[in-house]
Amino acid sequence: MSIQSLQELGQQAQTLATGKVIPIIAAPTQTPAEQEVARVMQICNACRYCEGFCAVFPAMTRRLEFGKGDAHYLANLCHNCGACLHACQYAPPHEFAINIPQAMAEVRGQTYADYAWPPALGRLYQRNGLTLSLAMVLGLFLFLALAVALRGGVGQLWNAQLGNNFYNLFPHGLMVGIFAPVFLLVVLALFMGVRRFWKDVKPATSGVDVGMPAAAEATQDVLRLKYLDGGHGEGCHNEDDAYTLARRRFHHFTFYGFALCFAATALATVYHYAFDLPAPYELPSLPKVLGALGGLGMMVGTVGLWRLHRSRHPLHGDPRQKPMDLGFIALLFVVASSGMALWLGRGTPALALLLCLHLGAVIALFATLPYGKFAHGVYRTAALLRHNTEKRQPSPVGLGAD
Ligand code: SF4
Ligand code: SF4
Repeated sequence: MSIQSLQELGQQAQTLATGKVIPIIAAPTQTPAEQEVARVMQICNACRYCEGFCAVFPAMTRRLEFGKGDAHYLANLCHNCGACLHACQYAPPHEFAINIPQAMAEVRGQTYADYAWPPALGRLYQRNGLTLSLAMVLGLFLFLALAVALRGGVGQLWNAQLGNNFYNLFPHGLMVGIFAPVFLLVVLALFMGVRRFWKDVKPATSGVDVGMPAAAEATQDVLRLKYLDGGHGEGCHNEDDAYTLARRRFHHFTFYGFALCFAATALATVYHYAFDLPAPYELPSLPKVLGALGGLGMMVGTVGLWRLHRSRHPLHGDPRQKPMDLGFIALLFVVASSGMALWLGRGTPALALLLCLHLGAVIALFATLPYGKFAHGVYRTAALLRHNTEKRQPSPVGLGAD
């Protein structure tokens, strides 16, 4: 069966269902990656074998054309689980060359760059591995230079007599002065980026505002990583046809580890300002428990994700995004492991250097959050919110209920 006859089949199905002739022609799209999403989605719309795998296919059945907004929405709805590639009879080397995870990943990568704010910084996605490495070097240099300036020489960093208290090296006010503006800029950049994405995608997804039931279901989808279960609960694919829940679990370790570390920092801020209880904290204080559990979770999660990523099937995703993916995983690991080393190294002569390494990694991670892999969590959450809103509306094509 040729691509053309598949498209004709789709057209006949739409005509039978609606009683009127509906042309299935690719809507004008701007980029070859978006055109490829439109091509594969039109074939899938005639086939529909993968309907139960994830949110992308029910969303696809609500459409006859796949314009720019649709492509951006569907690409960010896809979790790159690989299920539809391994199930597809038209996957390469078939002449139709249907590779949904790859087509979606290419558009996803493009959306991160297109919606980045300020727009000029979208270019940082093009050489993201280099961007992350440079950020790490600059972060490390910043804190080493500050430490040398504050201590009066390089030789003063080893055995700096900080005791257990890193404020003896970097005073609290200095740390707040460095991290608070970076954090606020990061929040602003992510907000502005996702706002632009929302503006493009909302009209393509019913245009209806998000209600409470949709928001609650989308939150559940995010927190459970629902669409990494392959649609049957046995998991997604990694290097071959076998199902695995490993990716979902290591994602959970990383995500909840990060969330716990963030909660530990937020709680420490409350302790400092509201209760006049400055750091350092020791076990069993709550900030320390949260930080230790979070750090361990991130280390386990990132080691697992790194291993899975290295053995991933070559047709999954966009190979050009590998440096971005691996660089982000590596940076998260450095942040978590240097934080743990800082705790274990308290009272040792190495504390000042460990502190510089940890703070350098943390600022590199935060400064690059809006311009790296972290963006996938933000845009995917937005896409899931739109999906859970759109699916509560009547299907605009009168075909294939969600
Ligand atoms: S990915 Fe392949 S099998 Fe699945 S719906 Fe599309 S064409 Fe059909
Ligand atoms: S790769 Fe997975 S999440 Fe993406 S479209 Fe295919 S089945 Fe859905």
